[in-house]
Amino acid sequence: MSCQPTPSGKRICAEGAAYLAPILNEPTPRVAVMSCEGACAKGEIARVTANLVSYRLARDSVVRLCLGDAVTADSGFSEVVQRAPWVVSVEGCPLCCGSRILRTRFPDVAIRAVVATQYYDYDASKFEIHDLAPGEADAIAQKVAPQTLDAIHPVVNNAAVNANAATSHSKESNH
Ligand code: SF4
Repeated sequence: MSCQPTPSGKRICAEGAAYLAPILNEPTPRVAVMSCEGACAKGEIARVTANLVSYRLARDSVVRLCLGDAVTADSGFSEVVQRAPWVVSVEGCPLCCGSRILRTRFPDVAIRAVVATQYYDYDASKFEIHDLAPGEADAIAQKVAPQTLDAIHPVVNNAAVNANAATSHSKESNH
């Protein structure tokens, strides 16, 4: 299968659009959370942190942004960016590529960047994602998540986060 040609039409990810449909119908826009999507260990930690916050700790309060779609396609992520009070971008390192990329389509978007390496002891000898030990990215993401939640605040408060975390843990325990 080749890439979808789009000389005039829109490019839409059906699964992404389905994820966003109920969220875009909510009267109050959510804070959007994204990561830089770097291909190295630092980028992996940023991605895992963004997923931990978006799909577990604050899943009912934020929306996970697909950076590639938001910048290049039309599945609804661009609308999310335009509606969001601000975007929290978990960046793998101080280059903040995620913020830079997002601004190519949305130059005036409000972004709160969380530079992950500020919140854990970065081991510069580990570049490739598979240099990380099994579970290491998840453990580090737990250290970066509180800073990410702070950047989401005040939409999400710690009480709500703790409640969601307890609910998620309960759901996982039941499987
Ligand atoms: S911010 Fe750092 S880790 Fe992320 S894509 Fe850029 S260089 Fe890679």
